[in-house]
Amino acid sequence: MAVVVVGSLITDIISYVERLPQPGETIRGKSLFIGCGGKGANQCVAAAKLGAECTMIGKLGPVNDPLSRIHIEALTKNGVQRRLFHSSQDQTGSAIIMVDKDAANAMTSVLGANADLKPDEIDSVAESIQGADVLVAALGIPLKSTIVALKKGRKHGSWYLKIIFNAAPAASNLPSEVYQLSSVFCVNESEAEMLTGEKVDSIESADRSAQILQERGCKVVLITLGSRGAYLKDEANNGILIAAPPVKAVDTTGAGDSFIGALAYYMAYYPKLPLQTMVERSCQVAAFSVQKPGTQISFPTKEELPEELF
Ligand code: ADP
Repeated sequence: MAVVVVGSLITDIISYVERLPQPGETIRGKSLFIGCGGKGANQCVAAAKLGAECTMIGKLGPVNDPLSRIHIEALTKNGVQRRLFHSSQDQTGSAIIMVDKDAANAMTSVLGANADLKPDEIDSVAESIQGADVLVAALGIPLKSTIVALKKGRKHGSWYLKIIFNAAPAASNLPSEVYQLSSVFCVNESEAEMLTGEKVDSIESADRSAQILQERGCKVVLITLGSRGAYLKDEANNGILIAAPPVKAVDTTGAGDSFIGALAYYMAYYPKLPLQTMVERSCQVAAFSVQKPGTQISFPTKEELPEELF
């Protein structure tokens, strides 16, 4: 299996409203959308839509929980293999989201079964992890389980497979082994700031933040910068800004997941490409996704993208 993702699955329940309600107020929504999300599921589907053979490792609520069935259907539709666990006591992770007419939102997110993904369970699917070319791991599941997954990706001190670690959702503190265990450590501006204390609002500050992460043991650092693109600092400490193509964004939700899914795809299927080219192409893929509303549904398929990206 080319790409294995260990991470979260969240069901998004989105209601579109004229304006966000005040506390205690009930307002009528215009429409309701139930979709699949969670960083792990999004990254996996993003890579699968590009044509990668993918496996998703994570945890859902009980088998007959309707919120878990939605994920199984979406993963199946996108050709993703599943090594999913089911919690008997926790519901599938979910987010209740309200989006107003100006695209401002209010959200509560419940980790649910994601928080119950046990290190032992990751251990039991170690073969799937070790059979991959690229492992993508993120937070949103217990850190201990993420660390087991990262360790399974290594073999006797040498890199067993390429590991993209996405320190998201934002965390203020990570154990040193997490920095050392990834081949590419990827964060967005606010996640970088939370980890390093360096406000990332320029190329210079992105470089300083990446430098701090490298001093903690990261090899390659990638900081995504929204419409500005991504800052790549390689193992030789050379930093470069890779510009995002100028596009008219309509919905940037999940842009980072589209980017990471694409990077995993390129690392698995075009391992000889220079990393910089992989990042440039991942920026192009993510730029496509921001031009469409929605999250997984906005991720482009190979057929929708220009031939030169392949
Ligand atoms: P996240 O979704 O994690 O906050 P970013 O907002 O940094 O991540 O976006 C990830 C990537 O998506 C960026 O590096 C860039 O390549 C692309 N992207 C995001 N927003 C835009 C935009 N408005 N125009 C073009 N590309 C974008």
